[in-house]
Amino acid sequence: MTDRNWKTRTTLVHEGSRRSQYGEMAEAIFLTQGFAYPSAEAAEARFVKAGEDEFIYARYGNPTTRMFEERIAALEGTEDAFATASGMAAVNGALVSMLRAGDHVVSARALFGSCLYILEEILTRFGVEVTFVDGANLDQWRAAVRPGVTKAVFFESMSNPTLELVDIRSVSDIAHAAGALVIVDNVFSTPVFSRAVELGADVVVYSTTKHIDGQGRALGGVICGTTAYIRKTVEPYMKHTGGSMSPFTAWIMLNGMVTLDLRCRAMADSALQVARALEGDARLSRVIFPGLASHPQAALAEAQMGSGGTMVAFEIRGGKEAAFRFMNALEIIKISNNLGDAKSIATHPATTTHQRLPDDQKVALGITPGLIRLSVGLEDAGDLIADLRRGLDAV
Ligand SMILES: *Cc1c(COP(=O)(O)O)cnc(C)c1O
Repeated sequence: MTDRNWKTRTTLVHEGSRRSQYGEMAEAIFLTQGFAYPSAEAAEARFVKAGEDEFIYARYGNPTTRMFEERIAALEGTEDAFATASGMAAVNGALVSMLRAGDHVVSARALFGSCLYILEEILTRFGVEVTFVDGANLDQWRAAVRPGVTKAVFFESMSNPTLELVDIRSVSDIAHAAGALVIVDNVFSTPVFSRAVELGADVVVYSTTKHIDGQGRALGGVICGTTAYIRKTVEPYMKHTGGSMSPFTAWIMLNGMVTLDLRCRAMADSALQVARALEGDARLSRVIFPGLASHPQAALAEAQMGSGGTMVAFEIRGGKEAAFRFMNALEIIKISNNLGDAKSIATHPATTTHQRLPDDQKVALGITPGLIRLSVGLEDAGDLIADLRRGLDAV
């Protein structure tokens, strides 16, 4: 991590840059699997301990990937970071690298489908016990942790798709009192509005596929944490199991970070305008946006993020048929399932991202047939509101 005390925007433009002997302005893509050693002795020495600017094999690390890791660690406020091939490689790596049979994990129940798969299907297959709780209910977290046995707690700081927040500070306090590591999937909160580490989280994971790329081009992920955790626990697991980020992807993510702050703030401003325009519309039974006073956790959102974020969810009266008519009438907003993209995206969670869930779980998580998840992009907010009205008029 830098000790230069740069503000966020300076960090995002400059942190981690490494220049070759040519002094190139733009970060270079070191599109190479390996590195030639000047001598056999140098190869031996590097395998004993690689220096700060020495690399062995791209699965272990690469100069372009390292630039991205240093930039995101500086933004997140962690000592180090490890870049991964996808967000799921990051979630899997953060958990599996530190757990063994007999350990206990407490997790929020409202999770991205693949995160749920790792916790429910994979960890349990190897003898890790997992307890699921309602993430917003602190009493359930308190009751679930077992001092000395619970090794990690896991949650998404803002849940998908119903935008419910977990109180990072309170859950971290509960977890730390039991001796557990706090691992936060921070995708929906965005790296710009995240204060997870400041609030007590030990490890933050991102799917960089979302806001960090920001233009829907490449899959990627990253695990941020202390030097000891990243280099002694995560790196050995990741480098031997093959989930490292490619240098080309790292270059895309590095460039995404340059505009990350500007983009997230512009998208959050538009999300607030969109949420305000939708709230009170008679064709909707519910508008969910953590930046609206009507959100039950508006005060927590303000304290934890200082923003409502870039996602809006709303429920159209008339169920699936009405929701589909709405989506099919949209002209600017695309029907897809990514988020954090410059292009606004509408998703129908019940039939796509959360299709696999049994009906009773959908009900429990608030994933109703009329629910739409909207990722607000960089288009003009007025144009987006007009597009949403066009959709609602078709209902
Ligand atoms: C997208 C997403 C992931 C998975 O990331 P990939 O890059 O698609 O592997 C994990 N968690 C959350 C909250 C996500 O939105």
